[in-house]
Amino acid sequence: MSEQPIPFIDLAAQQAVIRPKIDAAIARVLDHGQYIMGPEVAELEKQLAEFCGATHAIACSNGTDALALGLMAKDVRPGDAIFCPSFTFAATGEVVAWLGATPYFVDILEDTYNMDPESLSQAILDAKAAGHRPVGIIPVDLFGQAADYDRIEPIAEENALWIMCDTAQGFGATYKGRVTGSIGHIATTSFFPAKPLGGYGDGGAIFVGDDELAKIIRSLVNHGYGSERYDNVRIGMNGRLDSIQAAILIEKLALFPSEIEARDRVAKRYSDGLSDVVVTPIVMEDTRSTWAQYTIRAPGRDRSSILDALKAKGIPTAIYYPKPMHVQTAYQHYPKAGGALPVCDRLAAEVFSLPMHAYLDEATQDRIIDAVRTVVPTIVKSAAAR
Ligand SMILES: *Cc1c(COP(=O)(O)O)cnc(C)c1O
Repeated sequence: MSEQPIPFIDLAAQQAVIRPKIDAAIARVLDHGQYIMGPEVAELEKQLAEFCGATHAIACSNGTDALALGLMAKDVRPGDAIFCPSFTFAATGEVVAWLGATPYFVDILEDTYNMDPESLSQAILDAKAAGHRPVGIIPVDLFGQAADYDRIEPIAEENALWIMCDTAQGFGATYKGRVTGSIGHIATTSFFPAKPLGGYGDGGAIFVGDDELAKIIRSLVNHGYGSERYDNVRIGMNGRLDSIQAAILIEKLALFPSEIEARDRVAKRYSDGLSDVVVTPIVMEDTRSTWAQYTIRAPGRDRSSILDALKAKGIPTAIYYPKPMHVQTAYQHYPKAGGALPVCDRLAAEVFSLPMHAYLDEATQDRIIDAVRTVVPTIVKSAAAR
């Protein structure tokens, strides 16, 4: 048995499959020379919209700008309250603060790591009591699994709030007959290389159903242009996606459906091999995750000892996320639903993720499964976990 280190995510394996197509796609852009807003950008937008069933897709510079553009299009301003889970990548709450609005951090569900609808309702009450104006919700499809929209949407409707889905990790996941990207008033994704649909650089996209909103976002992404070239009608940004990046993503998107299947097979094998020794991910009924991460827990055992022992066996792991947003230095002063987010706090101390990608072969995966099965039972309960 080889004891070579295993990569946490293997982008080279995928590249080997499509390298000639990528080379040809880049060469086409070099030949026509339209590096900005070239035909590949419009083509990618068309294919992305078709893929998820959204009316409009607008390509942009990255997943963070996608979120910011959505908030700008919704005219978010100081005094507005926007509700997002605390257990997420910092960009989700960061953009709210950019615009001077107040992020209200919401707790998560223990089984899916996604926004807890009851905590959301509490946060809306908190915001009203504090004199903030509740305007929108940013659910996150964490680790590739859609948030529970059948429970979040009625709360949004009751309170006249819009929903902007941060599906940077979950783009292409299915939720009870719907595909993420087409869920919410706005949805945003990221093409950061390590995401399930990643490019070779930064990139992102915004999805909307509403024609007027799409028009506003198209304008914002390009400095707020209007119908006359140098008469900008609103304050926007340079948020465009490069033609070369769009050309690469078109090739990656062609591969994406089969990669989602492959990731799902990897996840099922992990769960079959591990569910009796660790807490494995729960996927809601009638949904399919894109498995941005395969995240497990060993409650009551010392996580850092587990990770050290796995590392010694050549098994890389990662912690998403060691600190929820509400305890991070830049965000700890923002409100938390009900004053505390106990589930976020507890799970952040327990989670760790195993290598996950579409090209993880069974022999390597068996090595990982064996290592976890060997290591976890030998680790004693940590003092911190009592
Ligand atoms: C990666 C990520 C983002 C930000 O995307 P970038 O393209 O890196 O700006 C936003 N939200 C979530 C949940 C993410 O995982």
